[in-house]
Amino acid sequence: MKSLWNEHEAAGFSGELGQRVYASRLLGRDACLVLHGGGNTSLKTADSGEDILYVKASGADLASVGPEHFAPLRLAPARGLLDEPDLDNREMKRRLDALLVKPGAPKPSIETLLHAALPFPCVDHTHADAILALVNSEHGASIANTVFGERAPLVPYRHSGVELARACLAVFRARGTPRTIGLILQFHGVVSFGASARDSYENMLRLVTLAEDYLASRGAWELPGAFAPDPGVDTLGLAQLRQQVSRVAGKPLIARILRDPATLAFARRSDLVEISQQGPGTPQHAVFCRRVPMLDRNPSAFAARYRNYLQRHLGEDWKPFIDPAPRVVLDPEWGLVAFGVSPGYADIAAELYRHDIEIICRASAHDRYASAPEAFMAQAELEYAGFEQSARSDPATPLLGQVAVLTPGAAARDSGLASRLLDQGAAVVAPRSALGALASDPAAHGYETADPAAVTVEATFAFGGSDILYANPGETNWRRGFGQLLERSAVASRIEAVA
Ligand SMILES: [Zn+2]
Repeated sequence: MKSLWNEHEAAGFSGELGQRVYASRLLGRDACLVLHGGGNTSLKTADSGEDILYVKASGADLASVGPEHFAPLRLAPARGLLDEPDLDNREMKRRLDALLVKPGAPKPSIETLLHAALPFPCVDHTHADAILALVNSEHGASIANTVFGERAPLVPYRHSGVELARACLAVFRARGTPRTIGLILQFHGVVSFGASARDSYENMLRLVTLAEDYLASRGAWELPGAFAPDPGVDTLGLAQLRQQVSRVAGKPLIARILRDPATLAFARRSDLVEISQQGPGTPQHAVFCRRVPMLDRNPSAFAARYRNYLQRHLGEDWKPFIDPAPRVVLDPEWGLVAFGVSPGYADIAAELYRHDIEIICRASAHDRYASAPEAFMAQAELEYAGFEQSARSDPATPLLGQVAVLTPGAAARDSGLASRLLDQGAAVVAPRSALGALASDPAAHGYETADPAAVTVEATFAFGGSDILYANPGETNWRRGFGQLLERSAVASRIEAVA
């Protein structure tokens, strides 16, 4: 990996915190290092005589992070929390909030104590794909020891928060040397550190490069990708899948479909059952993708198995927050179908699992893929659950998860309709000319045909189907053309007359 550090760019970020922000954005710029709120960074600095830890806020995205997304805490008492034997994550969060030196500062990352524990001014944590492809494997621990040695000792899997921080500190104390530039976190990711933001960032790249070189030396870097998509796809079947998954979820979900050759090749692997049912590369992915993808077209059976898994590890605690419907489906014909309460969340699930595919393929090419034990995945799912409910509880977006299709006549008659529907949370399929600047919205899809049958296919590939058709009373060919697709709607479908 090549360092993206650019002195000219860096000079635009003033002070130590500015440099920390710049290096964090460089990490966030590379999707192979972190995705969608994953990973975190920190800076320790003296401020009016006291050591302060600036740590990335929970949920903030490294790619777009700013100084305001770093939570400033008193370092010494934060470190002191590690000596309290009975501390759990809930109590940790409460105590850390009390150590914030700025009122109204954002909530500090779950990994704050890990950052506090390590004795370096800058600490970076990512879920780098290449590291996971190396270490998430049956012999990953011994491979990691050989590849990284004292440069980055291996920390056995521990749940994020207090336990992981304690394990990192113990391993660093026991095995750290002057040559140590990071730690490898089994089934989770990697930590790097250094005297400056640039040092820590470039140490991260050194560790990732070691992993990439190892994978390449074992012929495990290139992804198989021999399958081109079939031209004919059963789009009504896809819409039916969305209908069934939405019913099991208890809410309408948007579907996104990935059919690139590597994804199709993965969905057609003969060992798919074994390699896809271990779990994702890092527990954060389970939050959006669920622990495992569905491999058949049977959402009810998936949900029954998923309920058992959640119940086994979480008792009743999951019920208010998690539904047992799949978020990722792998299918030899369709490829990867990702589900989310909005197009944005479906995209996140698709992108995260696309990275899991690479991790799993590469791990399987040099060893046998493995992931964190399922109990920890369940805990991670619960810890971050609730984002779907908060998205759905917004009274301004009653159409969230639903797909609205505008006929050419409806779009012409009511030029503000597409914009109003998007504002209400709907995914919108409309003539491209009617969308204008809205066409770049991930929740909008523009079509350029006058053929209703072609638009049913486009709506299914864009969002998984259709729930509401807006048509002029005279457009009987559109009403007829959409009949079968609307029967497979995720909600009670309807046709709205635009006159
Ligand atoms: Zn992490």
